[in-house]
Amino acid sequence: MHCPFCNAQDTKVIDSRLVAEGEQVRRRRECISCGERYTTYETAELVMPRIIKQNGNREPFNEDKLRAGLLRALEKRPVSVEAIETAITRIKQSLRATGERELPSRHLGECVMSELKDLDQVAYVRFASVYRSFQDISEFINEIGRLEKADD
Ligand SMILES: [Zn+2]
Repeated sequence: MHCPFCNAQDTKVIDSRLVAEGEQVRRRRECISCGERYTTYETAELVMPRIIKQNGNREPFNEDKLRAGLLRALEKRPVSVEAIETAITRIKQSLRATGERELPSRHLGECVMSELKDLDQVAYVRFASVYRSFQDISEFINEIGRLEKADD
């Protein structure tokens, strides 16, 4: 990559190691022209499918929204942050495993329900009771969308 100081084309890597539990590679680089040193972080780009909302709009998958939704359902429940993060990782893996570039928001909703069922019965029932009180899944998804908007 080009040197961010002098824009020279050649830089050399002087140190390289794994960070963030092996999820990233940290590299120290030195510019051959100006001698400046800088650091780059390399992460695999795992492309998530886009989410098709009930009204047909597409939006990027938003991990922060997913996390906020899970935390809301799990409020004051004895579930560790680590367990929640693991559930988020599993949901993302499950979305990617479909191999689809776009998925209906309903699909995401179902993944969340399935994880909540395993994590905490109370949180699951909170979600399920909301789900059942609606005529059909599209109303449920709209409600989730409304809650998500309230977070923005
Ligand atoms: Zn340079």
